[in-house]
Amino acid sequence: MTVPFIDLRRQYAAIAAEVEPAVRAVLASGQYILGAEVQAFEAELAAYCGAAHGIGVASGTDALRLALEAAGVGPGDEVILPAFTFVATAEVVTQLGAVPVFADVERARLTLDPADAERRITPRTKALLPVHLYGRCADMAPLLALAERHRLVVIEDAAQAVGAEYAGGRAGALGHFGCFSFFPAKNLGAYGDGGFVTTSDPALADRVRLLRQHGQRQKYFHEVVGWCSRLDEVQAAALRVKLRHLEAWTAARRRHAAAYRDALAGLPLALPEEEPGERAVYHLFTFRTARRDELKKFLADRGVATAVHYPMPLHRQPLYRHLAASGLGESERASEEVLSLPLFPELTEAERDEVVAAVRAFFAGAS
Ligand SMILES: *Cc1c(COP(=O)(O)O)cnc(C)c1O
Repeated sequence: MTVPFIDLRRQYAAIAAEVEPAVRAVLASGQYILGAEVQAFEAELAAYCGAAHGIGVASGTDALRLALEAAGVGPGDEVILPAFTFVATAEVVTQLGAVPVFADVERARLTLDPADAERRITPRTKALLPVHLYGRCADMAPLLALAERHRLVVIEDAAQAVGAEYAGGRAGALGHFGCFSFFPAKNLGAYGDGGFVTTSDPALADRVRLLRQHGQRQKYFHEVVGWCSRLDEVQAAALRVKLRHLEAWTAARRRHAAAYRDALAGLPLALPEEEPGERAVYHLFTFRTARRDELKKFLADRGVATAVHYPMPLHRQPLYRHLAASGLGESERASEEVLSLPLFPELTEAERDEVVAAVRAFFAGAS
């Protein structure tokens, strides 16, 4: 048996009968950009996240860039973010002429370390950009307290964490902005690209709306330099169908994660944890092991696909080496030790058992 890392066709097959009429209705409507589907979806997803406002944009990367820009981040400003994340988190800061300041991650959570973030604050620091990595929220209470003390804007990179909860609040409603991605492999994925910004501040929401469409409130009247970054009607119609299934899919992800945790207990692995009051949504099931590369190869030979998120921390990437960031040891160790197992709602129990058997065989020394 081979086990894929993810198989998006299974989800499509399960909901095709709902998605296809919704998409066909958009195609027949003649309205493809910023129409009724986007408007309805914005209200529905914002409500799901517990935020007052939601704005559909063209990608998760754009969501981050527009939120930062709406927060007033620009040339000369510094934004503190984890060194261990997907490149988009830092790229958008650079695109706005600001400077990404890499902070280390906490050993267990692998999210922005509040103490290290605090050490890196300067008079130029404008925002904190924590990432809810793998679908588990960053430790937001100390980060929000830090932001409050230093008057910083908090922008959540919630691209991997739609529906994740922390102290009763949902990702996207914990900071000033939440930024989501509908990249197909994300927990709420589109059939193409898409992204979303949440905020509960009406003035900030208005600013993001202005920026997503050429700085215009009224057609052909332009107040500021904006972008062309919209979620389209076809994607919104499909996402509205998918949003109705999201809780069930999240429950399935959590069942798989719990089963992996039980079945892999006792092995020399640092498994993902959850604390009381938290709900992780397991975009990925990622653990740490000192024998990562060996295990990855062993599993591949047995037909089990795995992935590494991420093999190189951002301060080591060619584009950011000139920043000469240091003191990022946990991020460096994590990039050498993390491995993600197959986990998606439609994964079968037999496939999961196969993954577990293969991991156990590796540590038992079998070949
Ligand atoms: C996917 C992702 C993004 C970017 O989203 P896109 O929709 O691909 O632009 C940003 N940050 C993180 C942590 C992500 O996982």
